[in-house]
Amino acid sequence: MFPDGDILEGLRARLDEAADYALLNGLLKYTPQGRLNHAPFALTPCPIDPACQHRMEALTASFNRLAHAVARDRAFLEDTLAPAAAVDDFTARLLKLARSGAGNQPIHLAITRSDYFIHQPAPEAPPQIRQVELNTIAASYPGLAERVYRLHRFLLQDTPLERRLLANDPPPVIAEAFAEAFARYGHPGARVLMVVQPGESNVFDQRLQEIALRERGLITRRASLEEIARQGTLKEGHLLVRGEVAAITYFRAAYGPEDFQSEDAFKARALIEASSTIAVPSLYAQLAGAKKVQKVLTEPRTLRRFLPSGQAAPVEACFAALYDLDEEVDAGGRRVAAWRLAIDNTAGFVLKPQREGGGNNYFDDELRRMLTGMTPDARPAYVLMERIRPAPHQAVLVREREARAVPAVSEIGRFGAYVADGEREVINRDAGYLVRTKERDTPEGGVSAGFGYLDSLLLTDPGDP
Ligand code: ADP
Ligand code: MG
Repeated sequence: MFPDGDILEGLRARLDEAADYALLNGLLKYTPQGRLNHAPFALTPCPIDPACQHRMEALTASFNRLAHAVARDRAFLEDTLAPAAAVDDFTARLLKLARSGAGNQPIHLAITRSDYFIHQPAPEAPPQIRQVELNTIAASYPGLAERVYRLHRFLLQDTPLERRLLANDPPPVIAEAFAEAFARYGHPGARVLMVVQPGESNVFDQRLQEIALRERGLITRRASLEEIARQGTLKEGHLLVRGEVAAITYFRAAYGPEDFQSEDAFKARALIEASSTIAVPSLYAQLAGAKKVQKVLTEPRTLRRFLPSGQAAPVEACFAALYDLDEEVDAGGRRVAAWRLAIDNTAGFVLKPQREGGGNNYFDDELRRMLTGMTPDARPAYVLMERIRPAPHQAVLVREREARAVPAVSEIGRFGAYVADGEREVINRDAGYLVRTKERDTPEGGVSAGFGYLDSLLLTDPGDP
């Protein structure tokens, strides 16, 4: 629960001031109608148990390492994704493009975000960390996460809660990793190319990261896949766009089929992969974040192929159960296919296709409808995941200057910044966090998808209930 009722009431009374502060300080987003406004935010920071927070932060380095090890094992990715690729055209095309890549860039730069819920099995039980997914492409909100922290710091100034607010500033840590990879590329006049969607509503978050890169001396150029197809070329292995070398190509788009509506888009993606630019992520690194890969990594032996035992154990402890649809599972002594079990217990599962970006999953009645209507040959394109039930807390959520006090749940992401040169790890850091709070009964969670509210973390005192 939010620790102090008076402070909560005090925050509600400051709605206008908070919204103005958000606008003044760049906590901005375009609305779905294309108007400029403050991004949706929670007035109330999200309480978190300090021990949980500490464990979560400590997992980042292991997930960075895991993602890198998986990305390097192409045979494993091919085998794991082949059944999904056989029925899912987008996965098939990504795999095909990955195979066609030059594959000779030993410098690996990754900006990841591992998302979690805090699972509360029973009111008295200790809270547990449960991973939702690891994002290896277009991990968003490093910039706005800092802005909402700044808003909360302002609102809680001179209250007893001020010192418990967890500081957060991902962009400079991310920029440090960029600068390291950029230096290793060895082309001082080169640029960072940011691949963006035309008309991006989350452009301010991206701009904040660009500014942090500029502070490290790196200049960013923005281009859509279509623009890269028209204005990009290869020269002595380098990717050139509008005549400038792209030392790093940073994807803030191109994770879903919506960004590949023309053959030009595929052409651009192939061009990037054929060059020596440091792609963040490369196609194999992107595929390492696929839902099917996540599922396979929950098998203890598979996980240990990629991580030493000491690191595998805490990683494993945060996994929720994941199933292939046709996998046989135990149901009270009977063996049944996971998809049948999920039809009988829709509240216990989430159905997920091989997609990123939010808004793609199926819950409750929709999940039943999907599973009932699905032909057997379509099943390999999906996974079933145990539905995580985080404990709700009381929050005040603000969208377009309107506040509502509701029971809410929060999804916490930890940003990771990682640089490797061949097998050698050069930077492996936790880069801060993102909190997306949503109404308790809303199943999906994305801020861009319209469900989530940006938030920050407030450490609970041992004495709090
Ligand atoms: P995407 O790659 O599209 O972002 P996610 O796996 O992150 O897909 O799921 C999107 C949202 O669905 C999450 O942000 C979360 O709100 C909800 N969700 C996903 N998995 C679970 C789960 N196992 N239990 C409860 N909610 C989930
Ligand atoms: Mg997600």
